[in-house]
Amino acid sequence: MEPILGIDFGTTNSAVAIFSKGRPVTIPNEFGGQIIPSAVYIADNGDIYVGESAKNVGILHVDSTVLSVKREMGTGVNHFINGKNYTPEMIASFIFETLRKTAEHKSGRGIKKAVVTVPAYYDDKKRQATRKAAQLAGLEVVRIVNEPTAAAMAYGVMSDREGRVLVFDLGGGTFDVSILNIKGGVFEVLATRGDTRLGGNDFDRKIVEVLVERFMDETEIDLRKDKFALQKVYEEAEKAKKTLSDQRIVEIEIPFIAADESGPLHLTTKFTRYEFEELITGYIEKTLRLTKTALRDAKLTPEDIDMFLFVGGSTRIPIVRKNLKNLFNKEPEGSVSPDEVVALGAAVQGAVMSGRIHKIALVDVTPLGLGVEKEGGAMVNMIKRNAVLPTEASAIFTTVQDYQKAVIIHVLQGERPNVSDNISLGSFRLDGIRKASKGVPKIEVKFEIDVSGIVRVSAKDLDTRCEYSVKLDQASGLSEEEISAVITDARVSELEDLQFNSERQGQV
Ligand code: AMP
Repeated sequence: MEPILGIDFGTTNSAVAIFSKGRPVTIPNEFGGQIIPSAVYIADNGDIYVGESAKNVGILHVDSTVLSVKREMGTGVNHFINGKNYTPEMIASFIFETLRKTAEHKSGRGIKKAVVTVPAYYDDKKRQATRKAAQLAGLEVVRIVNEPTAAAMAYGVMSDREGRVLVFDLGGGTFDVSILNIKGGVFEVLATRGDTRLGGNDFDRKIVEVLVERFMDETEIDLRKDKFALQKVYEEAEKAKKTLSDQRIVEIEIPFIAADESGPLHLTTKFTRYEFEELITGYIEKTLRLTKTALRDAKLTPEDIDMFLFVGGSTRIPIVRKNLKNLFNKEPEGSVSPDEVVALGAAVQGAVMSGRIHKIALVDVTPLGLGVEKEGGAMVNMIKRNAVLPTEASAIFTTVQDYQKAVIIHVLQGERPNVSDNISLGSFRLDGIRKASKGVPKIEVKFEIDVSGIVRVSAKDLDTRCEYSVKLDQASGLSEEEISAVITDARVSELEDLQFNSERQGQV
């Protein structure tokens, strides 16, 4: 049986696992650790370093090192390094390649397939970008699984427990909360909420702001102007944050951080856990709010939760743990390492797909609704959030002008009424509509979300039975210029003669 890797591509760290001898195991890296930093350094000669070595060198080569690339997946942000342009997908592919090679080295065979995890709250663009990064590294992504779901699978399989589980996943860059029911080997996701831009990195930034302010008060030197110094402050801030998970006070000392006419200057200060908690209180409250909303979505109260799991490094922060313990009035499950549990769960799903395990099934939901823009800038929702995957919906569109040859459909992900508050997955233009008076053609547009959360669109002229194959522009892997050309073209066309009547007649 061909092995299928389980990959947790994290903002700060990544891990790879495989199913072996009846259980999932993480594959250690060359230094024996179970996780590798998601850091990439591109040397002047084009050599690429990933992991610990990249993180260590990165401090000296800030411009040639990319940290937290996961935050950029599916965005247009590019990195220009040593005269070459790198998309986030390319940078991420170096991490995937390192993980693949680590696994191949360990198992002594070539590996071509993987289950890859993403934050539950990832939209289609970010999922597509992640899949593309893995493909660039020579891996076929057989399934994308949401991180909290993967964690619950690993936990369920390794502990053999059943019941309602809440997974609270707070990592370096993202926050997710999911509620699952585990029964008879079926892992059913009941609700999921999250924020793709909330995590330990934000907490580090808060500490950095204070350190920079304190140094400026003392020396009138702004460390933000020196990117090497700033990078060092970030590193020390993260270290201090971690120390504050075990101690109530930390002494921060960064020697030779700057200099003035009197000579070298050092940053020396004290930071308490209380001060840290004050700094991050807004973020922590948000995680609690989202947790309560997820419970409401699942029509449950805290008392209905049989167990809760912590995933991600930031759940080591005492105030985070205390809040959740108070909410559920019980202790978290602690049998699986929060750093490895997601990769282990992905390996479990890989084993299901390769036929190594039979008695497990996964039923996941879409975190975000799907819809289209109607005239006037409002969103028409077609697929509701928390719909069980795979799911589909269709609607009938027609023309608003006589002899209109095409329509433009703007696909949106989210659930806010205003178009601008949602994520635009792209616009597509449907050509070749039958020549007819306005309102006569019936064009059925079908939206599908597969088990990996990937969106597909197809359209059919119901009179001619002609099928049109359409794809979402931004998800199609076009270059940024190509994408903007397509969108500009579409907008111009829209102004001229192509409008669509978005009055839905079909059942969603
Ligand atoms: P992950 O994305 O799950 O690898 O989580 C990484 C995040 O967890 C980073 O922001 C780390 O700084 C943070 N982290 C790791 N260990 C600790 C700790 N002991 N206390 C607080 N934060 C931590």
